[in-house]
Amino acid sequence: MKRRRFLTGSLAGGALLGAGLDAVAPRSVLAAGTRKTVVLQPNGKYDFLLKGGHVIDPASNISEIMDVAIAGGKIAAVDRNLPAADAKRTIDASGLYVSPGLIDIHVHVFYTFTPFYYLLRFVVADDVCLPAGVTTCVDAGSAGIDTFPQFMEIVRKSRMRILAFINISAPGMDMNEHDPLTFKIPPMLPGGEGIFAKYPGAIVGIKSAHYGPRVPYDAIHTPWASVEAAVEVGRRNDLPVMFDFFARPAEGNWPARTYRDLVLEKGRPGDIHTHFLSKPPYIDENGKVARFFVEAQEKGFVFDVGHGGGSFRWDVAIPFIEQGFKPDTISTDLHAGALLGAAVSMTNVMSKFLCLGMSLEDVIRCSTANPAKVIRRPELGTLKVGSTADVAVFEVLTGEFDYRDAGMGKLHGNKRIQNHLTMFGGEVAFDPWGLNSPFWKDMPQRPRPSGADAGMDGD
Ligand SMILES: [Zn+2]
Repeated sequence: MKRRRFLTGSLAGGALLGAGLDAVAPRSVLAAGTRKTVVLQPNGKYDFLLKGGHVIDPASNISEIMDVAIAGGKIAAVDRNLPAADAKRTIDASGLYVSPGLIDIHVHVFYTFTPFYYLLRFVVADDVCLPAGVTTCVDAGSAGIDTFPQFMEIVRKSRMRILAFINISAPGMDMNEHDPLTFKIPPMLPGGEGIFAKYPGAIVGIKSAHYGPRVPYDAIHTPWASVEAAVEVGRRNDLPVMFDFFARPAEGNWPARTYRDLVLEKGRPGDIHTHFLSKPPYIDENGKVARFFVEAQEKGFVFDVGHGGGSFRWDVAIPFIEQGFKPDTISTDLHAGALLGAAVSMTNVMSKFLCLGMSLEDVIRCSTANPAKVIRRPELGTLKVGSTADVAVFEVLTGEFDYRDAGMGKLHGNKRIQNHLTMFGGEVAFDPWGLNSPFWKDMPQRPRPSGADAGMDGD
């Protein structure tokens, strides 16, 4: 099956590229005058019924109005007209979209680790992901084998699901990434005392990142040292590698390190390049996307957004999307700089692709089914019956919404994805506007907040 589908007419006239976008009347389902009420009853085989939403589950090829029932933390049924009489809590999802909990495969949530070298602060996964409908995130190389035990403390303390691409450099994401002497392969091999045996299921791949090196090439600091070490570990563990990579010209007797070689020669099908919409040289002087992108994607090499603080540019993203080359996965690369910069959140990054002309179904596919496949956890990112009940309930606002890129430039868009409710493992993990709450006067007893709402002594 051909993996790429070309967009049709959605960027007609280039209206989105400049100031000529037609005004669109602002519209919000929740602002439209129909208040939503949760219906409660003591008994029912379902714990929750999300009623009347437009379900988008690309893994099941569903994009239509359906009900989603949840029982025992799992998806119990997805069908038309499931009876509210069967559910303890029926949430009115009419006018809203219901999708699998989103998967963000590039974040930095090892918040107790400070990589001073990059002047970055990392972020708290639950706080930045759950509000955006993200229920699974993958930390992209913040930790290496030396720091992985501390990272796992954060994984254990978090509510949501945090997985990891482990850094090929043992200390993790700091200046040691430039030093091949820190690429310790034996303890990263399968079995025995290795890191993969110690933390089964926690590591979904290897990260190779930022490898300069900052010194001239020599017998140790070879052009591909980081990429080759990561691919070796990936190959031995049968796991993908995520590359944060930049090309470097020939130096002395050392040949040029090219991007084409990364995606077609060094990388394997299933390996990932993150930040692929960041570098203007990917577009040739005629404005065309380099041919090898298409070749590599057709072979199964994965192109991930990894927006971050500086890795998403309109002058790259627009030609790619206009020419029919879509990302395989949408991700944020959230750290403090990205959170406070132009990335903001998963839904903000997804909204940009919606405004660039991708369909909502494709945007959701790149944020659910595709990333699940890339991290080889196909049981995630879907609402198939029996799956863990990770769910996002959101709306697509229409109006005049502007977005910024890493080059400080603004694009006029007309859509914004606004998440309203997130469920993780069948429990409500984010619901600030009370889709799951009765009117306060109708509650004979008002419980103290619990779960995500609970503070010190319920404050
Ligand atoms: Zn990153």
